[in-house]
Amino acid sequence: MIKRVYFDNAATTQVSPEVLSEMTPYFSQIYGNASEPHSWGDEAKKGINQAREQVADVLGAKPSEIFFTSCATESINLAHKGLIEAARGEGRGASEKPHIITTQIEHKAVLETCKHLEKLGLAEVTYLPVDQYGLVSIGDVEKAIKENTVLVSVMYVNNEVGTIEPIVEIGKMIKEVNITRLASRLPCKGLPLLKFHTDATQAIQYMDCNVDTLGVDMLSMTGHKLHAPKGIGALYIRKGMSMVRQQDGGAQELGLRAGTENVPYIVGLGKAIELARSGKWEDRSEKIERLRDKLIAGILKITGTKLTGHSEKRAPHIASFVFEGIEGEAMLLYLSEEGIAVSSGSACTSGSLEPSHVLTAMGIPPEIAHGSVRFSLSKYTTEDEIEYTLKVLPGVVKRIRKMAPKL
Ligand code: PLP
Repeated sequence: MIKRVYFDNAATTQVSPEVLSEMTPYFSQIYGNASEPHSWGDEAKKGINQAREQVADVLGAKPSEIFFTSCATESINLAHKGLIEAARGEGRGASEKPHIITTQIEHKAVLETCKHLEKLGLAEVTYLPVDQYGLVSIGDVEKAIKENTVLVSVMYVNNEVGTIEPIVEIGKMIKEVNITRLASRLPCKGLPLLKFHTDATQAIQYMDCNVDTLGVDMLSMTGHKLHAPKGIGALYIRKGMSMVRQQDGGAQELGLRAGTENVPYIVGLGKAIELARSGKWEDRSEKIERLRDKLIAGILKITGTKLTGHSEKRAPHIASFVFEGIEGEAMLLYLSEEGIAVSSGSACTSGSLEPSHVLTAMGIPPEIAHGSVRFSLSKYTTEDEIEYTLKVLPGVVKRIRKMAPKL
């Protein structure tokens, strides 16, 4: 029988049994609408409040600074569009376009949101380059700051290559800029204060996400990367920030996100984030890192393979490679036949295979970038699964290379 090995945890994770059992009563027993002032509503509200505290606890934030959404994409849209709309309505006048600084390797949720704001003429955007390891330079961020810059948005961990960005250092630099801006505010109106957003979707399980340590004003996350279900996310917004909600209707989520709350999923996210940080979570991270390093060492023994991303500044669960002479998509299919699920960095766009925008930004030529394959682990990954994969992989590589046309 073929073994089944799931190495696509950066795409989504299994819902953990503890999360599922916490959620279950909220479907059929505690099913009240949390906005209703009767006991059914109160019970549901209690579940939401507890989850808000669980998320706030991990972020070192106040519960009133946590807003539940449907996913990281929605959180990111709300963070960027909500802030830009607020910035245009205040301060130096609606005639001046607010400026956003972001990077070329962000998830499409950030890139497409920024492009949308540009297209509507609501903001101007600088997309910063990265180095060969996928790292953004703090100096580049600082140099890109202009008088009308209102937002810096840099992801915490890149989802394709796992590189950890220097969020703490960028946060410190922004704080310094804001101190200068604050000083220039008096006696006449000065420059807008810079806000800092990070997409922590791939970081939340493994990295310190204390918002004060990071120096961020907004942080986006999603549940399904940390063993909660798909369809639930959260956005942290520092108290006192001006934001305009992007979904109009009722007064749910402290008035910032209308729509009846998805109570079971909110409860699930709360439990999942609590579990991610409970007990000896650093030991769990270390175990995943050790398995990942074993996988990396084994894969690099195959000729014509190269690790992408940073060798040390790398999240514990992601290992990404390029395989010379191999299409990532072919590898994905062949490994799938062996029961192994991985992901390819390529995105299938209108019938043609586009090389990953992340690898391209890292200076990897398109023909090499096409051979990109990502392995992503979770707390459920076992030594046995790593060994099985390392046993199967050389043969798969050999077979694909044999079939590839010689150039
Ligand atoms: N940001 C990053 C870094 C991600 O990896 C993902 C998901 O792949 C997202 C944002 C979007 O998450 P969701 O699909 O839950 O909105």
